[in-house]
Amino acid sequence: MNGEIITIGRELLMGEIVDTNASYFAQELANAGVTVRWSSQVGDDLEHLHEAINRALNRSQVIITSGGLGPTSDDLSREAVANVLGEDLTVDQEMVAWIEGVFRERGIDKMPSTNIKQAHIIPSAEFLPNPGGTAPGWWVKRDGSHIFMTPGPPREIKRMWNNHIGPAVRQMTGAGVVHTRILRTVGMTEGGIDEVLGDLFGTENPYLGIYAHVDGIQLRIISRAATDAEANALIEPLEAEIRSRIGPAIWGADDDSAATRLGELLVDAGITLGVVDSGTGGMLASLLSQATGHERWFRGSMITGPGGAPLATPLLESMLGGPAGRTTGMVSEAAARQMAVNARQLMGAELGIGITPPSSEDDEQMKGTIFVGLASSTGQKVLRGRFYQSPDRALPRAAMFVLTEAARAIAGDEV
Ligand code: ATP
Ligand code: MG
Repeated sequence: MNGEIITIGRELLMGEIVDTNASYFAQELANAGVTVRWSSQVGDDLEHLHEAINRALNRSQVIITSGGLGPTSDDLSREAVANVLGEDLTVDQEMVAWIEGVFRERGIDKMPSTNIKQAHIIPSAEFLPNPGGTAPGWWVKRDGSHIFMTPGPPREIKRMWNNHIGPAVRQMTGAGVVHTRILRTVGMTEGGIDEVLGDLFGTENPYLGIYAHVDGIQLRIISRAATDAEANALIEPLEAEIRSRIGPAIWGADDDSAATRLGELLVDAGITLGVVDSGTGGMLASLLSQATGHERWFRGSMITGPGGAPLATPLLESMLGGPAGRTTGMVSEAAARQMAVNARQLMGAELGIGITPPSSEDDEQMKGTIFVGLASSTGQKVLRGRFYQSPDRALPRAAMFVLTEAARAIAGDEV
C-alpha cells in the first residue's frame, strides 16, 4: 500500500517552522505497514494544493495531509479536496453545534462566525474527531484511496492518529502488531557500527535502522507480525546477533535514559554522587535532575564558568583543582582529578565527578578537549573527551559523554 504525506502551510516553505508532522506521520505510517513513497510541502495556495492532492489520489492509497484546516481565508485544504473531487461543500449543523460547545468550554459565548468554515464537509468525507482543537479532520474515501486530513498543531495530530487514523490504517494493511527495540550505544561512530553490522541492514522485516542521537548512536529494530509473540521472535535473533558483535558499546535499550541508568548503578553500589562542573554549563546537573529517583543519589553540582586563572576567589580556585589547576592549567588530568576529589567533599558524596572546561587551544589535538575526573574512596580515574562543535551541540554531548562513561566506569568497577 503506497502512502503519501502532504504538509500544508506557507511557514513550512519559508523555513519558519520545522516539518515535524511529516516525520511523525512517516514513522507512524511505516509502523502501520504503509510504504510512504512521497512526502511534499505545499503553500496555502488553492491551485498548488489542487495539483498536489490530485497527483496523490492518482498514485497513493493512503494520503495524509496536515494544516490548512483553520478558520481563516488562507486555510484552503477543504476547498482544495472538494475541488479535486468535484463536490460541493455544505455546512453540517451538528458540527456547528459541536464547535460552539468547544468555544463555550473555553469561556467564549459566541463562536466567531469564521469558524463555521470548520463545519463544512463534502459527501465523500466524514469528520475525524479532534479532541484537542476546534478543527475536525476529514476522512475522504474515493476509488480505493483514503485521504486523512488533519490540522497543523503537532499535539492534535498525535491524538487523531492514535485514536482514529492509526487503527483505521492498520485495519486496511492488516499490519497487526509492530514491535520496536532501540539499542543505545556509546563510543562508536555511525561508520564504525556500519563496518561491523553492515550485513544486517537492508531487510524489511525485521528492519534495522541506525540514527545519530545526542546520547550516542541508536540502533532501531522494527518488526511486524500478527501477534506479539511472533513480532518478538523476529526481533530477538537480530538483537542477539547485534549484541554478540558490539555488546560492550550498548549501554541501554528502549526508553532507558543515560542518567537513569547511571542512577541505577549508583543505587546498586549504594553510593551518592556530587559534581564540580566547568565543562557542560550545568547540562549534566540538568540531566541528572531529570532522572527517575535522582533524589536518592544526586547530592548536587557546583557549576562554574571556564574562567581559568586568575580565579575569582581563593575558595573557588581551590574547588577548581587548587594547586594542581594553578600549575598545570585548568584543562588537565591533574585538575580534573582534584575537582573530582573536591566534589566528594563539597557535596558529601561517595563518588565525585570533576569536569574541566573545554580547551580553547587552537592545537588540533587539544581544541575542545575536556578532562573528566572520577573519584571514590577506593579509586580514581580520568577520562578525556573532545567536543569542538558549537556550544549548543557540544554541551549536551559532553554531558552525555560524562553520563555514559561514568556509568561504564562504575559498571566495570573502575572507581
Ligand atoms: P488550526 O486549526 O489550529 O488553525 P491549521 O490546520 O490551520 O490549524 P496551521 O495554522 O497551519 O494549521 O498551524 C497551526 C500550528 O501547527 C502552528 O503552531 C504551526 O507551527 C504548527 N504546524 C503546522 N504545520 C506543521 C508541521 N508540518 N509540522 C510541525 N508543526 C506544524
Ligand atoms: Mg493555517
